[in-house]
Amino acid sequence: MNAAVEQRLRAALEEFEAKGVYKNLLYIESAQGPRVRMEGRGEIVVLSSNNYLGLANDPDVVRAGKEGLDRYGAGTSSVRFICGTFTVHRELEQDLAELVGAEASLTYASCWNANEGLFATLLGADDVVISDQLNHASIIDGVRLARGITKCGSAVYKHSDMADLETKLVAAKSARTRLVVTDGIFSMEGDVARLADIVELVRKHDALVVVDDSHATGVLGATGRGTAEFAGVLGEVDVITSTLGKALGGAAGGFTAASTALCDYLTQQSRPQLFSNALPCTVASSARAAVRRLRSDPSMVARLHASANYFREQLISRGFKPLPGETPIIPVILGETAKAIRMSQMLLDEGVFVTGFGYPVVPQGEARVRCQISAAHTREDLDMALAAFEKVGRKLNLT
Ligand SMILES: *Cc1c(COP(=O)(O)O)cnc(C)c1O
Repeated sequence: MNAAVEQRLRAALEEFEAKGVYKNLLYIESAQGPRVRMEGRGEIVVLSSNNYLGLANDPDVVRAGKEGLDRYGAGTSSVRFICGTFTVHRELEQDLAELVGAEASLTYASCWNANEGLFATLLGADDVVISDQLNHASIIDGVRLARGITKCGSAVYKHSDMADLETKLVAAKSARTRLVVTDGIFSMEGDVARLADIVELVRKHDALVVVDDSHATGVLGATGRGTAEFAGVLGEVDVITSTLGKALGGAAGGFTAASTALCDYLTQQSRPQLFSNALPCTVASSARAAVRRLRSDPSMVARLHASANYFREQLISRGFKPLPGETPIIPVILGETAKAIRMSQMLLDEGVFVTGFGYPVVPQGEARVRCQISAAHTREDLDMALAAFEKVGRKLNLT
C-alpha cells in the first residue's frame, strides 16, 4: 500500500494503544451461549452478548438454519427485486410483522442497513427528522445520509426529554413530514424510551414515530413484542426497525415493520434493498424459528427479567451502584476509561466476560462495565459472575 497512508494508519493505531482504547479481539471457540470456550482462557461466563433469550444456540433454531441451508442452498446470489426473494422471506416477514404489531415488514441484511435505507428513502427536502440525543450510531449515520442526499432538515432532542421534543416538533411545524426517531432500549444506559409519551406528542403534532427496537425485540413486554408492548402502545408505532442479530437468534439481519404501503415503497426505492443482497435464507430460516420459539414459550421473557432483577439486586447488595432500570442491560459506572478497561480485564481473569466502555462511546468520566443478562444464564452462572464482581470490586476499592 501507499507508504504515506500506511504510516498514517500505523501512527493512529499506536495512539489507540497509548491511550488504552485499542480493541483486542477475543476469539471464541464454541457456540455463543451463557458460557463459551475462549481461546487461551477456557470456559468463561458471558455477560456481554446480545443473546437475550439464549436462542443463538437453541436446538430448534439451529435445526431450522440447517434445513434452510439444505432447502435453499448457501446463497441468494441476488438482490431481492431481481431473483433474490425466496418463500422463507415472505414467511419470516409475516411472522416479524405480527410479532411487533405491524401490518407488514421487510428484511435487510442488517438493522444498520434498515436504518440506512429508511430515512433517505422516506424523507425529502420539505421534511424534518427529530432524533433522541443518545440514539444508536446507525440512526445517526442514517440521518446524516438522508440530510446529504435529500437535504431534509434534522434536529436532536435531549435524551428522553419530552419538553425538548415538543419544542423541536413545534419548531418543525411547517415541514411536510415530522419524523421522530428513538431507540426502544438505549444500549449504553439500559433505559427505555418514554414511548407512550412520544406517541401522544407525535399524534398531537401530526408527526410520525420510528422506534429502533434492536435491544427490545424479544426482550420488553410480557410476551417480548418490544417497547410498544411494554409501553401499552402496541400497533400505534408508525415504523419499527429492529435486528435479528440480538434476541432473535443473533445471526445477522434486520427489518423494518410498518404499513404495507411503506414496506412496499421501501422495496421499490430503498437503496440497500436495490443494491445489496437479500438476507441469506439460512438466517431467515433460523430467525423464523426464533420468532416461533418466542411465540410458543413467552416464559423465556419472564425468566430473562427474573434473572436480570436478581443480578441487579445482588450487585447492589454487594455495594455496587448499577444504573437503575428495568432491562437486562445493567451498566456499572466507574468513571475513568482506564478503570473500566482494567475491571473488564480483571473480571476476565476470574472467568467472566464483561465489556468495559469508555470515551468516546460514552461521555468522558462515565466509563462503565456493561452487564447483559440472558434467559439462558443459570443461577450458578450469575452467582459465579457475582463472586467475580465482589472479588474484583474489593481489589479496585469500588465497594
Ligand atoms: C445493534 C443495533 C443495531 C445494529 O443491528 P445490526 O443488525 O447488527 O446491524 C441497530 N440499532 C440499534 C439500536 C442497535 O442496538
